[in-house]
Amino acid sequence: MTTTFDELATRIIGGTPATVDDALAVLGASDDDLLDVVAAAGRLRRHHFANTVKVNYLVNLKSGLCPENCNYCSQALGSTAPILKYSWLKTDEALAQAAAGLRGGATRVCMVSSGRGPTDKDVERVAGMVGAIKDEHPQVEVCACLGLLKDGQAERLREAGVDAYNHNINTAESHHDQIVQTHTYADRVDTVEKAKGAGLSPCSGLIAGLGESDEQLVEALFALAEMGSDSIPVNFLMPFDGTPFEKTWDLTPARCVKILAMARFVCPDKEIRIAGGREMHLRSLQALALHVANSIFLGDYLTSEGQAAETDLELIRDNGFVVLGSEEHAQQVAGQLVGGHDPAIRRRGAGTDVAANA
Ligand code: SF4
Repeated sequence: MTTTFDELATRIIGGTPATVDDALAVLGASDDDLLDVVAAAGRLRRHHFANTVKVNYLVNLKSGLCPENCNYCSQALGSTAPILKYSWLKTDEALAQAAAGLRGGATRVCMVSSGRGPTDKDVERVAGMVGAIKDEHPQVEVCACLGLLKDGQAERLREAGVDAYNHNINTAESHHDQIVQTHTYADRVDTVEKAKGAGLSPCSGLIAGLGESDEQLVEALFALAEMGSDSIPVNFLMPFDGTPFEKTWDLTPARCVKILAMARFVCPDKEIRIAGGREMHLRSLQALALHVANSIFLGDYLTSEGQAAETDLELIRDNGFVVLGSEEHAQQVAGQLVGGHDPAIRRRGAGTDVAANA
């Protein structure tokens, strides 16, 4: 790449898409150039999403006990990770969980179940839950993530009020068979197409850190662009003990930011969501990553705990962002803005009998 990242952003805003070489240059940037990458990707982010952050909330409707063998997944066949395992939540439990996320500031609820794919009975069960959630919270967006879909199921979900369907491609087609053998990449693409065909907003993303090359990460992003994925969750592998990827730590915080930036350059106007592994892999660079991505999950993930929901909201506010659709968003649009919170008086360390914060 002979242009600077800033020039690349200008070119993309002008309507010339990023090329494979541009995307590889972002991933290959030195850590010394990280701020240049973030500033350029941040221009694209602000051009399309201003300072808003979409906040999503996960409800794991059915956890573990999956017959598929996705090597990265703590819920997979053969995984001995000591996760919670339970069958379908009842509608009132699902409703209570969704309400907690909405109270916390989420505007989209992602209703997820483990398994290869739903039976028609499962689809009816979820349709009932979605109806109940929408009755109480008509403004909420609901995304379903139930696995591989059969003919007619996407249409039924749409009819029940589901807005979006998530099914990640997870990795490049050229790497897919290394990480799962019980279904194919084509199976996954087929489900995204079924969702799209039924009028559901397609949500499909990837997991980085599965031993893929830079070329394969770029291949996956271009596939998602081609597929027209409206929202792109970028997960960073959480290497659960008891799964084939245990103790696989291929990512650094700066590398994760570059992956998010590459996604932004390739899909400038799509929702780029920092998904699983955010706290573990980005660590103190979470704030920097928000200048590139425009969406996060609030609170906990499917089988692991995230940082406190209030810390997520602070991360957003402290960096000058607002939750999309929130009161602060409305206030900012109206030209008002809100303040911070009181100092916590120190009552530990020097001068006390309580252990120091170190
Ligand atoms: S990713 Fe989904 S299909 Fe694959 S093992 Fe996990 S729960 Fe099952």
